[in-house]
Amino acid sequence: MITAKTLKLSLKSLREFAKKRLPDQELIDLDARDECPLEIVRHMCSPDKLGIQLLFIPEEFGGMGGNTFDVYCVCEEMARIDLGVATAVLATFLGSDPITVGATAEQKKIWLTRIAEEGLLFAYGATEPEAGSDLGALKTTAEPVLEDGRVVGYKITGNKQWISNGGIAGAYTVLANTPSGPSWFIVDQGAKGFTHDKPEDKHGIRLSNTAALAFDNVYVDADRLVGGVEGQGLNQAQAVFGYTRLMVAAFGLGAGWSALDRAIPYSAKRIQAGAPLSEKQGYTHKLIVPHVVRLEAARSYIEETAERIDAGVEGSLNTEGAIAKYMATEAGNAAADASIQALGGYGYTHEYMVEKISRDVRITTIYEGTSEIMEMTISRDRWQLHLKTRGQHYHEQAKKFEALHATHPAVGADNAALALHALAEVMEKARIARLTRYQHVLLRLGELIAYAECAGSLARRASLLADNRLNEKANRRFDTSALATISRIFSREAALKVAEEGLRWIVGAGGITDTDLPGFETSLGLTAIHQAQAALITDMDYVADVLYGRTVKRTEKAA
Ligand SMILES: Cc1cc2nc3c(=O)[nH]c(=O)nc-3n(C[C@H](O)[C@H](O)[C@H](O)COP(=O)(O)OP(=O)(O)OC[C@H]3O[C@@H](n4cnc5c(N)ncnc54)[C@H](O)[C@@H]3O)c2cc1C
Repeated sequence: MITAKTLKLSLKSLREFAKKRLPDQELIDLDARDECPLEIVRHMCSPDKLGIQLLFIPEEFGGMGGNTFDVYCVCEEMARIDLGVATAVLATFLGSDPITVGATAEQKKIWLTRIAEEGLLFAYGATEPEAGSDLGALKTTAEPVLEDGRVVGYKITGNKQWISNGGIAGAYTVLANTPSGPSWFIVDQGAKGFTHDKPEDKHGIRLSNTAALAFDNVYVDADRLVGGVEGQGLNQAQAVFGYTRLMVAAFGLGAGWSALDRAIPYSAKRIQAGAPLSEKQGYTHKLIVPHVVRLEAARSYIEETAERIDAGVEGSLNTEGAIAKYMATEAGNAAADASIQALGGYGYTHEYMVEKISRDVRITTIYEGTSEIMEMTISRDRWQLHLKTRGQHYHEQAKKFEALHATHPAVGADNAALALHALAEVMEKARIARLTRYQHVLLRLGELIAYAECAGSLARRASLLADNRLNEKANRRFDTSALATISRIFSREAALKVAEEGLRWIVGAGGITDTDLPGFETSLGLTAIHQAQAALITDMDYVADVLYGRTVKRTEKAA
């Protein structure tokens, strides 16, 4: 177990190392040369140096036994440094996941100990040229090799595409089809018949090595079959999705914040039309504040999901991982893009870094499941909940937030309740008119669900902070009053989005008659949702003041 103090110290040494070894100019040069700084990656993973991977390895295998919450914190910090290096370092974690989840005790001991003690780099080989989002279409095969009727090994043949650390890893977990179905195998770098291509020339994360892999009758002993039983591969991959998607969610969060943390000080200094940009509402309320709000909504969902995974009572929380990834990576991309705009012409050059961050963070809505696959995952799962509860699931959730509003009237729980009630109505209308036969409607529902659930999560988080009951490792950038304000802004947006976009797709898919439309609009609570937008500008002013450190000055002035 890692204490809050140890975690804080680890993050601090990570920051100090990066400041020394990866200053902006070095990152810009490596990005331009399209080079993975292998020596730095190894330094970060060496047990006698930074030893980041020790955080993830259970104590019994020589690690520090960090939990999901710790991993989220490290991933966010790594992403703030550089998303390419973060990908290279964290690929070992991803690559060893099938082992952590599905390996035999002996396999765990061998491989996890080697990662801890030798800093062995791993790669995770699932994707293929023709099997991306649909992993079930994989073609790589693992043919059993028999001796005296007993399986003594496998011959692996096939290709893997876009594999992080593909050209630099010491070991690979590779998904291949056995006679009993997809299974994970551990393959050494030097295995006969195994080759990798030259690194891909990528849009972003150019400090990470991404390469295609080829397996031509690569022999591995039977003890390289993860878990020792064939056909468990897709289940093992599924079992860690909640966890691994949170890692990428934290990447989106860290990269988004790293862009904003460049735009914010820049705008405080940049004078246009006689005053700093930071004092122009049309600037802050478009380019800064909404992105801070969405990132913090995503953070809240990440932290809650991490806590729930660590509590270990609810399974792998795949859908929650999908919501966290979807919201954080979309918000991270939007924040980085807005940061380019916030820096104007300077933002468009390499020197000011936001351009690089924007290229880097782009990958987070693609790898570890694209945003569209996340929308589908979220929607399908919650659709089942809607059916099982006869349409009451989100109404029930909404009631909880009405109760929370009674005890914590400032945290936006009332708006979250409006969003959740509207969501229940939209889903019910979609059920009656059988609209999920339209894939677009199904996926749009996924987005609305993610927004409504995040609104609830953020309101809950703001109330926990107010009660001094927030996880001691949780991010505390904002105080009680700022977080409550952020939550009110987000929950207003979520309620409006759910009701108006929900209405749009119900009408757009022919799910309602003109006669029934006014009644449906009433059931969505449109008037209340519109009324809830009151004081939005005041709240945004307050968040801008907090971000630019103006709240203290105002209080002083008033005194
Ligand atoms: C830099 C980089 C690093 C990577 N690292 C790794 C790694 O270490 N290990 C690994 O195994 N993989 C890795 N990947 C692969 C990554 O996970 C896949 O690229 C991703 O899952 C998408 O698969 P695809 O590229 O085949 O796209 P496709 O699945 O072909 O998708 C293309 C588009 O179609 C959409 N789409 C797909 N299916 C549907 C559907 N049913 N309905 C509607 N829309 C759909 C997608 O959302 C996407 O927008 C990496 C990729 C990159 C680019």
